[in-house]
Amino acid sequence: MKLEQKFKQTLKKIKLNKKEKILVALSGGKDSTVVAYLLKKFGYNIEGFHIDLGMGKYSEKCLGSVKKLCDNLKIKLHLYDIKKEMGSSMCYIRAKVQHEKKGLKNCAICGVIKKWIMNREARKLKVSKIATGHNLDDEVQTFLLNIFKGSPELSANSGAITQNIKNKKFITRIKPLFYVDENDIRSYAKKMKLPVVYEKCPCALDSYRIQVRKFVDSLTTKQKENIIKNFYKLLPKIQKLKPEGNLYYCEKCGEPSRKKICKMCELVKN
Ligand code: AMP
Ligand code: ZN
Repeated sequence: MKLEQKFKQTLKKIKLNKKEKILVALSGGKDSTVVAYLLKKFGYNIEGFHIDLGMGKYSEKCLGSVKKLCDNLKIKLHLYDIKKEMGSSMCYIRAKVQHEKKGLKNCAICGVIKKWIMNREARKLKVSKIATGHNLDDEVQTFLLNIFKGSPELSANSGAITQNIKNKKFITRIKPLFYVDENDIRSYAKKMKLPVVYEKCPCALDSYRIQVRKFVDSLTTKQKENIIKNFYKLLPKIQKLKPEGNLYYCEKCGEPSRKKICKMCELVKN
C-alpha cells in the first residue's frame, strides 16, 4: 500500500477530525516534516511547534528546515528556545542530569524533557492533539526494547494514539506514520523535495537502541508490520500489567504525572 493511503487509513482509525487544531511537533527531520506536509495536504487544521535545543550547528540546521517548511505550507510556527526558557542548552541540562544519575541514556533524558515541554506548550496553545513523526521502525524498536528489558508494560500507552490516559491536562498524542516504514518515508521526503535535515542527532549515542535499530533495519516491511500486529494483539494483556491508575498533578510543576513528582522534575532539579 502507498504511503499516503496508509497515512489516511491511520487518521481514519484514530478518528481525526478536520476541524480540531493539531500541533505538529517538528524536529526538522524527515518524519515530522512528512506528517505536517500530509496533514496540510489532506486539509487538516495544523500549526507547527519546534523546540530549539541549542545544540550548535545541528540545531541551527533543524530550525532552518522547520522555518522553511512552515513558510512553504503557510502554517503558523511556535518556537520554544530551550536556552531562553530553561537557562541552558539540552547538552548542558543532560550532562548535569547524568552527573547525578549515572547510566541514564541521552535519548531517554531528552525524550522526557521534550514530552514535558510539548504537553505544556500544547495546552497553552489550546490544541486538541499533538502529532509526532514516530514511524513503524521507531515503534518496533521501542516495543522490542521494552520486551528485552523485561518490561512490556512500558508499551501500555503506546499506539497510533495514546491509550489509557484520561486527564484534562494531558494532551493526546498521535503518530500518523505509525504503520509506515522509515525507508518509504525517506524516499517520499526526497521525492517531494521537502526541506529536511537527514543527519542523525549528534547525541543519539544510546548503544542498546543502536543495536536494536540495526536488527530492525535488517527486517522486511512485512516482518515489522507483523511485530506491530502482535503488539496490538497483546495490548489488552500488556495494559493489565499496568493498571490505568490515577494521574496526579506533579507537586513541583503541576503537570499530569503517575507519581507525586513527575519524571521531568525528578531529573531536572531546580
Ligand atoms: P525523536 O525522539 O528525536 O526520534 O523524535 C520523535 C518525534 O518527536 C519527532 O518525529 C518529532 O515529531 C518530535 N520532536 C523531536 N525533536 C523535536 C524538536 N526539537 N522539536 C519539536 N518536536 C520534536
Ligand atoms: Zn513536575
